[in-house]
Amino acid sequence: MYSFKDLIAFFRIPSDKPALNAAHLQALSTKIPLMYSFVIINIIGLAYTHFPHAPWWMTIAVPGIFVAISGVRLARYLSMRGRKIDAHQVRRRLQTTSLLALLLSAVFAVWALALLQYGTPYTQAHVICFVIVTVLGNAVCLVHIRAAFMAMLVGVVVPTTIILMLGGNVVFMVMAVNIVGVSVAIALMLVKTHGDFEKLIESGEDLEKERAAAQELSRAYFELANIDALTGLRNRRGFFNMLEDTLAENPDSGPIAIGILDLDGFKPVNDIYGHPAGDRVLREVGKRLAALGADMVAARLGGDEFGLILSGYRNEDDLVARGQMICERMRVPFRMDGYSVQMSGSIGLVALTPDVVEAEELIKRADHALYHAKQTGIGSAVVFSEALAERIRESMGVERHLRDANLEQEMSLFYQFVYDAQNDRMIGAEALARWDSPILGPVPPSTFIRAAERCGVIGQLTEILFRKMLAEFGDWPSNIFVSFNLSAHDICAPERILKLISIADRKGIDPRRLTFEITETAVMHDFERAQESLRLLKHFGAKIALDDFGTGHSSLSYVHTLPLDRVKVDRSFISEIETSAVTRAVVQTIIDLCDSLKLDCIIEGVETKGQLDMLQVMGCTTFQGFLFSRPLDGVSARRFLVASGDSEPAAHRLLA
Ligand code: C2E
Ligand code: CA
Ligand code: CA
Repeated sequence: MYSFKDLIAFFRIPSDKPALNAAHLQALSTKIPLMYSFVIINIIGLAYTHFPHAPWWMTIAVPGIFVAISGVRLARYLSMRGRKIDAHQVRRRLQTTSLLALLLSAVFAVWALALLQYGTPYTQAHVICFVIVTVLGNAVCLVHIRAAFMAMLVGVVVPTTIILMLGGNVVFMVMAVNIVGVSVAIALMLVKTHGDFEKLIESGEDLEKERAAAQELSRAYFELANIDALTGLRNRRGFFNMLEDTLAENPDSGPIAIGILDLDGFKPVNDIYGHPAGDRVLREVGKRLAALGADMVAARLGGDEFGLILSGYRNEDDLVARGQMICERMRVPFRMDGYSVQMSGSIGLVALTPDVVEAEELIKRADHALYHAKQTGIGSAVVFSEALAERIRESMGVERHLRDANLEQEMSLFYQFVYDAQNDRMIGAEALARWDSPILGPVPPSTFIRAAERCGVIGQLTEILFRKMLAEFGDWPSNIFVSFNLSAHDICAPERILKLISIADRKGIDPRRLTFEITETAVMHDFERAQESLRLLKHFGAKIALDDFGTGHSSLSYVHTLPLDRVKVDRSFISEIETSAVTRAVVQTIIDLCDSLKLDCIIEGVETKGQLDMLQVMGCTTFQGFLFSRPLDGVSARRFLVASGDSEPAAHRLLA
């Protein structure tokens, strides 16, 4: 059974079930107009049958007011239908409806019962009929608001029972008992129906919750599958999904390009400062890319490689400018706790064209462009073109022929001397590889060394060249050193370095006469393994030269951590030294840096007397370049040394 508290609760509109209240109001709003309509009809009907018997105010004035009130309520409900209201307003409307149900039903019932005293037994029967029909009709209409139908039942049944019981008419008394019995039955039935409705709504809510949870779960799965946890950007899969979507979209939606950004100098950050620092840099890169605006979507493809989809550019020049701007953003130092790291980025771009619809092919093209971006200089953007494709095809041809070549026979070394201006003599020579292919003819080393790296023969090639060099160099004057170039792949493979050391050792060469040239970019490739290689070479007793200085990251902070003996200033600076004050300042800084770090400084690519004079004034004494010596084959180089002798003066004049 119900407790008193339960009974009170029947008249309350719950405040903790907004969805339920909203559903109730929604259901009610379709029935209220119906309810007021038949209430109005009933009132008019009762007034009409009593008009000949009761005073005019009982059959015209009072019912007129009732009809007016009902009409106003009806109009109000109709006007408010479909209007969006908040949970608080919903509850207030349900409360008002319940209160009005109590008041209006009580007042209508009292009016109807007051008419009992007039008229005939027929009109009296009409009054009882009015009460019962009103109770039944209203109860059905108000079924959705328990508080309202309970209030309505109380509002009608209580005054009706009292009036009928006190009237003294036995028939009316029996009717009162009947009305109470029927009302209780109706109340119980409605409470049950109402409960079922509530459950239905709640199960709907649960369904809604389940749907929301499922949506949340699928979003989480999407994130897991498509988002890079470190940077918050899309991951490789997300990038490819997006790319496929872009390719499937309308091709007329404006120019779109794909880009691959590769960070230069990221590996050493990881190696030197640790993975947390590396992660921080990647996060910052992610932020910088994300901040570049709506015309670009960035994704992390893995490691320090990022994929880009660019739109909204005008033409190819504009696209390159956008790429360069991204590269510049990567050059802004990354501030860490108490230090900062400097990096750069290279970008390969490819514009979408109707003839390429495969994502893989686009990525391959962007990759090729990236490869060229990396070759042309650190931190630049290159757009894929047909000319580039031609060069790629060419280089692929070079690779094929290189793989088939008889390296032992076709490869040779030329030597370019290094001049010491202080003592006016040649102090050493750099060994430069030459490939005279029977099919392709002479191929420049800058081309075939890279091809050898790509097709995996570089280790073998380096070893062949090194043996050849040692064989030729063996009988050179003992005060001449020889410098051998190592590729990035050699320096990052300490086991190969060990092999070279053992070859030199077996040959009985004084290791102090051997210099190994490495580039900054090669070292940055894998800082830890490169350092291990350098340590081995130093332990052996050989010297290390940092080649092409100034073209790489020039992160001076790393230079002093390497066991270097000399630095070779790249020849690109020298061609501008007489015309550019900025270049002069850069070269001066490098010369001063070498001076303070006690490193030999060799200036490469000196071609004119004017350049030599200027560099000497700047404090440099060791040079290499066409002014002193063109690269000579082994026999010519040896002949030259014999001819010039150890103390041969002004050798450059003989050779220029
Ligand atoms: P590098 O190590 O910077 O070599 C110097 C290059 O500059 C040589 O080109 C040389 O001929 C050129 N050069 C020297 N003086 C002048 C000058 O006054 N003016 C101009 N315009 N150029 C000058 P080369 O021989 O074509 O070599 C190109 C690059 O190929 C080398 O640059 C080096 O990075 C690579 N390389 C050469 N031989 C080998 C090798 O045996 N192993 C490896 N791994 N790389 C090599
Ligand atoms: Ca070199
Ligand atoms: Ca060089």
